[in-house]
Amino acid sequence: MSVIKDVIAKVKQTDPNQPEFHQAVEEVMETLEPTAKKHPEFVKANIYERIVEPERAMQFRVPWVDDKGNVQVNRGFRVQYNNAIGPFKGGIRFHPSVNLGIIKFLGFEQIFKNALTTLPMGGGKGGSDFDPKGKSDGEVMRFCQAFMRELYRHIGADVDVPAGDIGVGGREIGYMYGYYKKIRNEHTGVLTGKGLDYGGSLVRPEATGYGTAYFAAEMLATRNLDFKGKTVAISGAGNVAQFAVEKVNQLGGKVISLCDSSSCIIDDAGIDEDKCSYVLDLKNVRRGRISEYAGKYKKSATCYEGKNVWDVIREQGIKVDIALPCATQNEINGKNAAALVKNGCYCVAEGANMPSTPEAIKIFQEKKILYGPGKAANAGGVATSGLEMSQNSLRLSWTREEVDNRLLLIMKSIHKNCYDTAEAYGRKGDYVVGANIAGFTKVAKAMLAYGVV
Ligand code: NDP
Repeated sequence: MSVIKDVIAKVKQTDPNQPEFHQAVEEVMETLEPTAKKHPEFVKANIYERIVEPERAMQFRVPWVDDKGNVQVNRGFRVQYNNAIGPFKGGIRFHPSVNLGIIKFLGFEQIFKNALTTLPMGGGKGGSDFDPKGKSDGEVMRFCQAFMRELYRHIGADVDVPAGDIGVGGREIGYMYGYYKKIRNEHTGVLTGKGLDYGGSLVRPEATGYGTAYFAAEMLATRNLDFKGKTVAISGAGNVAQFAVEKVNQLGGKVISLCDSSSCIIDDAGIDEDKCSYVLDLKNVRRGRISEYAGKYKKSATCYEGKNVWDVIREQGIKVDIALPCATQNEINGKNAAALVKNGCYCVAEGANMPSTPEAIKIFQEKKILYGPGKAANAGGVATSGLEMSQNSLRLSWTREEVDNRLLLIMKSIHKNCYDTAEAYGRKGDYVVGANIAGFTKVAKAMLAYGVV
C-alpha cells in the first residue's frame, strides 16, 4: 500500500463513525499521490499522516434558557485543524445535524481552501447541534451568548478567527461578538462577518455567492463561454445562494431555481433583481419558507414540496446550462448528476462545501464538464473574511469597489493556481487535482519548515 492509502485506512479505522470526514479525507488524499513522488521529503516527515490530525478539537456543553424558562443543553464544537500558514480560520455552523465528524470534514477542507486564497490563514471550523429554526430572537441571543461563554477562551485575533456558516449569519455573529467584547473587554478582529457599524467589511455578506459566480465565469472563459443568456440552477436560499443569484443576474444569466430543506421552487421566467430582493427579505428578515415564493410569483413559479433542486431537474427533465449548488453537503447524488449532465449542464461550481457525492463528481469528470470543487469555487467568503481581518488590523475600512475588486482578483488567482497546477501534474482541466495539490503543497512546505511540532 502507498503511504497515502495507509493514511486513509488509518483515518477510517480510528474514527469509524465519521463518514463525512472520511469522504473529505479520501477526496483530498487520493489526488495527492503525485506529490508523494515529487516530494519525498513530505513522506519522510510524515506530513500526510500529520495533516489529517487536527491540532486540537474541543467539545463543550452549551446550557441556555428558552422562552418558557426551561433549561436546554446543546453540544458545542471547535476544531482547530491547522495553523501552519496563519491563525485558525473557519465558520461556525448551527444545525441539528452537526457532530464532531461534520466539523472535522469542514475544518479539513478549510485548510486547503484557505491556503488557496493567497492570504495567511490556517484552517478550523466550529458549530453546534442547536437549531435556530423556530426559535425567537431572545432564544437565539441567549444561545449565542452561552456558546461564546465557552468559545471565548479558545479564540483570538491572532489565534483563531471564526465566522458564519449554515444557521449563523449577521444576527448570530452580532450576538456572539457582543458577548465576546463584553467578557474580554476588547474590540478586536476576533470574528468576521461582523456588521458594518462595528468592524465588518463591505461585500463580506455577498462574498461567497459572488466569488462562486466569478469562479464559474473563469472556468467558462477557458472554453470561450460566459453567463450571458445561460440558464442557471442554484440550490439553497441562504446567504450563499442569495448572492450567487444576484451576481449571476449581473453577469447576464437567468436563475431558475432555489430550495430550502422543505421544498424547491422553479421559476421559468427567472429570479430577477426584484424577486431576489423578495427572497432576501423572506429569508433574512421574515425568516419564512421558500414555498412562499411560489405563492407570491404564481404566474411563473412552481413549488415542489419535499424535493431539492436536483431531484426536480431530473424528474421534470429541466434544461440547465450551469449549476451552482449552494445548500449543503451531499445534495447532488450520482443519479441527479447524470440527469443534470444529460439535460445539458456543462459547468458546475460549488458554492456549498462538498455538495456533490463522490459518485456525482465521478460523472462530472467522466463527462469532462467544467467542475469547480467547493474549496476553490466558494473560497471567496473566507478570502473576504481575510480582507476583514486586514482592515481590522489596519483600523481602516475599504470601499465596496476596493473589496469587490480584491475579491475578483483573488478568485481569478485561485482559478489560475488550480488550472496551472493541474496542468503541471498532467491533468489539464481537472480542478479537483489542481485545488488539492496547490493548497496542500503550500501548507506542507510550511509544516516541513517548522520541524516536528
Ligand atoms: P444558510 O444557513 O444561510 O443557508 C443554507 C440554505 O440551504 C438554507 O436555505 C437551508 O434551508 C438550505 N438547506 C440546508 N440543508 C438543506 C437540505 N438538506 N436540502 C435542501 N436545502 C437545504 O447557509 P450558507 O448559505 O451560509 O451556507 C450554504 C453552504 O455554503 C454550506 O455548505 C456552507 O458550508 C457553505 N459555505 C458558506 C460560506 C459562507 O460564507 N456563508 C462560505 C463557504 C461555504 P433551511 O433554511 O430550510 O435550513
